This record gives sequence, structure tokens and C-alpha cells, in this order.
Amino acid sequence: MTVNLLDLDAAGLTAFFAAHGEKPFRARQVLRWLHRFGRADFAAMTDIAGSLREKLARLAVVRPPAMLADRVSDDGTHKFLFDVGGGNAVESVFIPEEERGTLCISTQAGCALDCSFCSTGKQGFNRNLTVAEIIGQLWQARQVLGAYQGKEANGERVISNVVLMGMGEPLANPDNTVTALRLMLDDNAYGLSRRRVTVSTSGLVPAMDRLRDECAVALAVSLHAPNDRLRDELVPINRKYPLRELLAACRRYLEKAPRDFVTFEYVLLDGVNDSAAQARELLALTREVPCKFNLIPFNPFPGTSYRRSSAPRIRGFAEILLAAGVVATTRRTRGDDIAAACGQLAGQVLDRTRRTGRRVIDLRLERQEAGA
Ligand code: SAH
Ligand code: SF4
Repeated sequence: MTVNLLDLDAAGLTAFFAAHGEKPFRARQVLRWLHRFGRADFAAMTDIAGSLREKLARLAVVRPPAMLADRVSDDGTHKFLFDVGGGNAVESVFIPEEERGTLCISTQAGCALDCSFCSTGKQGFNRNLTVAEIIGQLWQARQVLGAYQGKEANGERVISNVVLMGMGEPLANPDNTVTALRLMLDDNAYGLSRRRVTVSTSGLVPAMDRLRDECAVALAVSLHAPNDRLRDELVPINRKYPLRELLAACRRYLEKAPRDFVTFEYVLLDGVNDSAAQARELLALTREVPCKFNLIPFNPFPGTSYRRSSAPRIRGFAEILLAAGVVATTRRTRGDDIAAACGQLAGQVLDRTRRTGRRVIDLRLERQEAGA
């Protein structure tokens, strides 16, 4: 059976080479070719003997998920669509900013947790993504954004940050998520610091402890409600891991986290969770946890009955947190003209090119034009 080398981190590659009678340092060489230089062709791996390259070609493949589309928003945000087989597609979003470039990637096709305000949740759960499908989103985005073609020569990174906030719940797919995270941090692969990689979870407590022990990157927790009664309704996994347990897990996580705070995400839903009283309740709830708040204006999607809180209401909510000395930022909505904003990722392949006036890039066409 051929192995997809993008499924393997350093330990996995070392084991793969050992199983074929090769030395451990081959893992390091191959990691660099695959991830640091973005090469998929064994013939290009010039510091590896020809006989081993031939052996690799027999035993292994390098197969990232196929990129079906790259749509670019008016504000420069890219939304990438990837084919993961069986009629499923997942999305990643690249958000360029002055000081950094953030890639938001998916970990599952769909999501089983069914949060009431999330379009990914509404489509149900299809399956966990493999390591190659998770890391392959970064690999492919780097190809398209030119990171492998010398754009990074002056030390600037095209993709400086990765957030696991796309489709799916990363901690419901912990094995593949942790292996992909290890690749992101590996100096022979992407070499990102733990502070620049963020896992967002709706609060799977046992897996939070596991992440802390195995690969403690920055943590964001989707809170969305100041009490169990409301959170049970918005984030159903709360019935299994209620707020008291979730906040205790956050404190445990902070013992090993690369940052000294947890980011609490809070989607503002008009008339549901955005009152002044709820802001004060939230402050009381989180008093014991060093944290920052990321307030997310709700992004509507077809079929939802929730509405986005008004700008003054969002400001009022933020001001109550700020007045108590808590850092609260309001997420600027990016890419909403291409349905690339938080919670809008649904991965449908249909109806993708209907909107007029938007740039839609079909990669095959682009390659043809480039004469490739
Ligand atoms: N499953 C993980 C990560 C993916 S969701 C989690 O829930 O944390 C990433 C973020 O987008 C979460 O904070 C989620 O609550 C938020 N989100 C989901 N639907 C949204 C919507 N319609 N508008 C704004 N944010 C949304
Ligand atoms: Fe799943 Fe996160 Fe959406 Fe909830 S918000 S359904 S956990 S992807």
C-alpha cells in the first residue's frame, strides 16, 4: 500500500524510513523538501540518492487535497475550496493584514456538535479530515500565495499565523489535529511558534487536557453565553461539559500554554446573548481565568433565524468588558462578500460562481494562462 507522506510528522516519517531499512536523518531531509520547500516530486529531492528516490516513488505519494477554487474578496481575503472526496469539500480562509497573514483551516468535513448559530454545524458531520488534508490546506495555500517561490526571501512570512477555526471541531479529531500541529511547529517543516498557532474549541474538556500535554499551542474557547442555561441551547456540548468544568480546564491549560491567557470567543446574537446584564454575568463567570475576549458579530447564513447585534449594542457590550479592565476586541468581518467570514464556511461546491462582480479564479484556467 502506498503511503501519503503528507500524513506523517517527523516521528511518523522516521518510523516509515526505519521500516524500509533507511536512516532516521532521511525523515528530516524529506520533511524539508515536502514542507519547507513545498516539493511533491521525488526527482527534485537532490540530496537524496537516486536509488532511494526511486524507492520512494514506488512506496509513497505526496497527495494534498485538490484545490477546487480560490476566491478573492474585495478586501484581499482568499477563500480556498478543497475537494476531500466523496462529494465533500472543505474551506480555508487566508486573511492578509499589515503585520501578519493568517490562514484559517478546517479539521473536519461538517461538524457533529451542532451549535445553533453555525452553518458548518447545520450541515451535519461527514468525517474527520486526515493529516494530509489538514496540513495540505497550508501546503496548498502556500503554493498559491507564492510562499514557496521566494516571496519569503526577505524573512517575512506570507502565512505567519494559523488558526484552526474553519470547519469542524479540531478536538473532536484530536489524533490528526495533533500530528498536523506538530508539523506546523517543526523547524524542518513550517517552523511556526506555538504562540502563532491557535486551536479553537467549543469545549471538549478531556481533549483540551490532551492538547495541553501533547502540543500546547495557543487556545481559543468558544464561550458564547454567560451561563449554562443559555449555553446548553447555543453550544449543545455544554450539556456534557458545563461551564464550571470548561473554565477549570482553561485554567489547567494555562499552566502549559504559550500565551498567558485564553481567548474567549463570543458571537453576538441580537437579543439572545448581547445585553448589558449578560456582559456583567460574563465578567463574573470568567473572573478566575486570565483571558481576552474576541467578540464576533454574528455572520448570517441561509436558513438561520438569528440576527447580528447592532453596532451600538456590540460597542456597549465591549465597553462593559473594557471598563472592568478586560481586553475585548471586536473581530472585523473579513471576506463576507465571498461567504468566508466565521461560521459561514459550508463547503458547498454548487452556487459558487453565481455572484457577479466578484473575482473568481479557476486555478486550472490560471495555470493555463501561465503556460504551465
Ligand atoms: N469548532 C470550533 C472551531 C470552528 S468555529 C469552535 O467552535 O470553536 C470557529 C468560530 O466561529 C467559533 O468561535 C464559532 O463559534 C464561530 N462561529 C460559528 N458560527 C458563526 C457565525 N454564524 N457567525 C460568527 N461566528 C461563528
Ligand atoms: Fe462545530 Fe464549532 Fe460550528 Fe459548533 S461552532 S458546530 S463546534 S464548527
